[in-house]
Amino acid sequence: MARLTKTPAKTVDVADSYAVRLMQHLVVPTFVIDPKRRVVIWNRACERLTGVAASEVIGTNRHWQAFYEIKRPCLADLVALDRPEQLPEFYSEYAARGHNGLGFSAENWCVMPKLGSQLYLAIDAGPIHDEAGNLIAVVETLRDLTDQKRAEMALKELATKDGLTGLSNRRAFDQMLMSEWARAQRTQKPLALLFVDVDHFKLFNDAHGHQTGDECLREVARVVSRHAVRPLDLASRYGGEEFALILPDMSRDEACAIAEEIRSAVMGLRITHGANGAGEHVTLSVGVASHVPGEADGSPDGLLGAADQALYAAKRLGRNRVVCSERVLTEFVGLGRDHPTVGDQVPGLAPRRSA
Ligand code: GH3
Ligand code: MG
Ligand code: MG
Repeated sequence: MARLTKTPAKTVDVADSYAVRLMQHLVVPTFVIDPKRRVVIWNRACERLTGVAASEVIGTNRHWQAFYEIKRPCLADLVALDRPEQLPEFYSEYAARGHNGLGFSAENWCVMPKLGSQLYLAIDAGPIHDEAGNLIAVVETLRDLTDQKRAEMALKELATKDGLTGLSNRRAFDQMLMSEWARAQRTQKPLALLFVDVDHFKLFNDAHGHQTGDECLREVARVVSRHAVRPLDLASRYGGEEFALILPDMSRDEACAIAEEIRSAVMGLRITHGANGAGEHVTLSVGVASHVPGEADGSPDGLLGAADQALYAAKRLGRNRVVCSERVLTEFVGLGRDHPTVGDQVPGLAPRRSA
């Protein structure tokens, strides 16, 4: 940052100097604080950006109120205090070296209380020192990146969401499954997976038309997503009339209970099916598996295969039911409960997919 003054003074001279007037009329929203973190300059562009007049903040250290509702430091404060270690606490994106190698850069959603609407701001804050190396001011400049950020978020949404149901798409599912599998391997907590498949959906389409079929899928999706309630739970449309639910840190029994809730909630919707060969209402079959990854389990293929086998067993057993992977053999071929294990091959139950 260029030095604005040659005087050894410890504060910015805010007299009506050429430099100050220049800053007032800069198109870039800019404010300046002194070493005591009081605002000494708040330019016109900053007034326009924040809706806060210079007269409201000059001479105070209430500049944070232009951006946030709860008291916290602005980037210029962190520069004045020389606290790079606090950047992660206050900003989603940050760098401890600004564009000129001094100060900090950051990006953040700001509440903008005076405007009443959030803005995504890119912020640079750089120190100004006198010739003796004393801090005399910190200049903060702001760029409004809200439109770009919203466009970026919309694109990301498009890339990860299923257009028909609004659930996460297959791609997001694959990524999440890999990362949750790795996390479960580290934490040694069980990772549960549900495959939810609409019964006789081809017949449904044939009887009621594709558009009614789409509406039915949306209704089923709403039920499925209502059961992904914790922050890391993920409800996705796996493909066609099939949904998948990733439930981290969940035992098989807990996951089976959720599967049962989903199955009965969709029955409770009483969506008319009635096609020849199907029941009166739309029903679901659900396959459930939950594994704690072993040290050598590099991929979730075993978990996918187990949930898939369970789903396939639910179909073969007559549909409209939940089957848990460890019970597949018990229910399907009538073996004792002590025998079944995930990954054993059941006649007619070849896994259909892998990660
Ligand atoms: P099962 O009980 O064994 O699952 O039988 P099913 O008829 O549900 O399964 P199948 O795989 O034979 O047929 C799936 C059907 O789902 C066929 C396809 O037309 C329909 N489908 C897939 N995606 C969509 C979609 O986006 N909209 C509609 N309306 N139908 C879809
Ligand atoms: Mg189906
Ligand atoms: Mg299917």
